[in-house]
Amino acid sequence: MDMSLRCPCCDSDSMALSQTEYEVEHFGSVLLSAATCRNCGYKHTDVMTLNAREPMVLTAKINSIDDFNIHVVKSGTATVSIPEFGATITPGSYSEGYVSNIEGVLEKIEDSLTFMLSSAKGKSLQKGARMLKKIRTAREKPNFTFVMKDPFGNSALVSSKAGKIKEHRLTRTELLKVKFGEQALIQKTKQ
Ligand SMILES: [Zn+2]
Repeated sequence: MDMSLRCPCCDSDSMALSQTEYEVEHFGSVLLSAATCRNCGYKHTDVMTLNAREPMVLTAKINSIDDFNIHVVKSGTATVSIPEFGATITPGSYSEGYVSNIEGVLEKIEDSLTFMLSSAKGKSLQKGARMLKKIRTAREKPNFTFVMKDPFGNSALVSSKAGKIKEHRLTRTELLKVKFGEQALIQKTKQ
């Protein structure tokens, strides 16, 4: 698909926009768009998901070493939590998305916890040390629940085992409790 648009840089009608559909393995289609101005050379690229994605909660019961291989596609707006550890990782405003697996995410949590504990005192030190111990035990003998909530639905958990991943749409009440949930609601109303 090609069309001409006004260039925000030189204000001529010389912007050529091209869009390409691209299949991301285990995730679905995304739309790559590239706009180039034939007059001044200004360029802009972007990417967006094609399907109307719903606010989702994805859950996986991790109870074997094998489950550490479950793929984790985490967008910048997703919150990860492991209730058994009392751990919740809330995304910041400029949070990056990543593709990893359960083991990789556990390592990330362990690293940031270790860093945090180096300056913690009193009750938070005790609480953090308990959490770290639980994570280390779980890496040998896993038995916990991995939960990912994404108000914009751009995240995914992918397992080769059927029925391993449970998912449901975030309810309005759940949305209001999760980071970026309010923004997702506002965007939904505007559509
Ligand atoms: Zn231009």
